[in-house]
Amino acid sequence: MLRKNKNNPIILSTWNFGLPANEVAIKALSDGGNAMDAAEAGARHAESDEENNSVGYGGLPDENGNVTLDACVMDSNGNSGSVAFIQNIKHPVSVARKVMEETKHVMLVGEGARKFAVSKGFKEIDLLTAKSKKEWKKWLKERREMTPHETHDTISVLVQDKNGDLAGACTTSGWAYKMHGRVGDSPIIGAGLFVDNEVGSAAATGLGEEVIKTTGSFLVVELMRQGYSPNEACSEALNRVIKAHNGNPDFQIGYIALRKDGKAGAACLKWSFDYALAKNGVNKLHNVNGML
Ligand code: ASP
Repeated sequence: MLRKNKNNPIILSTWNFGLPANEVAIKALSDGGNAMDAAEAGARHAESDEENNSVGYGGLPDENGNVTLDACVMDSNGNSGSVAFIQNIKHPVSVARKVMEETKHVMLVGEGARKFAVSKGFKEIDLLTAKSKKEWKKWLKERREMTPHETHDTISVLVQDKNGDLAGACTTSGWAYKMHGRVGDSPIIGAGLFVDNEVGSAAATGLGEEVIKTTGSFLVVELMRQGYSPNEACSEALNRVIKAHNGNPDFQIGYIALRKDGKAGAACLKWSFDYALAKNGVNKLHNVNGML
């Protein structure tokens, strides 16, 4: 059994927008919040940032110009909540938390999710910013097939609080110019995010369709249960994808993993991948090279 890391909170999140998200999560912890509060707060920061065109407000729309969002959360008791294909709500991660805490369900989608959010006091807003609209209009002229890695990036925030408890949050606007109704891995528990308070937590970014097919985040956590280190678990989960694509996938997937003893890791398929790690009072961006 792994020794639990205590009194040394850790925050691990995806991409460079993870750095400011980590700062917000650190503040949530120092204000007395638990791992779930901190993960949600960090994810909300990215959702509010209109310069971030792959998450929340300012996210690039689907092919019809609709910004549709996916998010999920998972806490240290194994509870989870999720929303998919939700529109006009700025903080899907907080709606996901409400689904977890205030309904008997795990997942709400589309109109049902939006109506639920409104019933809980979330304001409806137009999520398509002038900048994203301009990009979409430009894309409409060519309708060029976007390579997945050039159009989307998810924020996932994995937190271990001072009690050693784990929680996570994941939120995205998904694949830019996707088909209307497309849902990726990010709201799917076990694909975009998985937390097991005995073993560790993991989250994904990249081509959601391929993460779903390999139940990626669950697999990373299960591999850690079998004794793989966080780095090895992320790489081994990606090996399955590489094998399924005859050794030559032409898309990106990145995983981050945080083990119960406080060890963090990451891996990605191609190119490189940035993740932000806040530990021992230092919040820093790290980079891993692709396996291929
Ligand atoms: N995984 C997300 C999706 O497929 C997007 C990303 O992280 O790049 O919707």
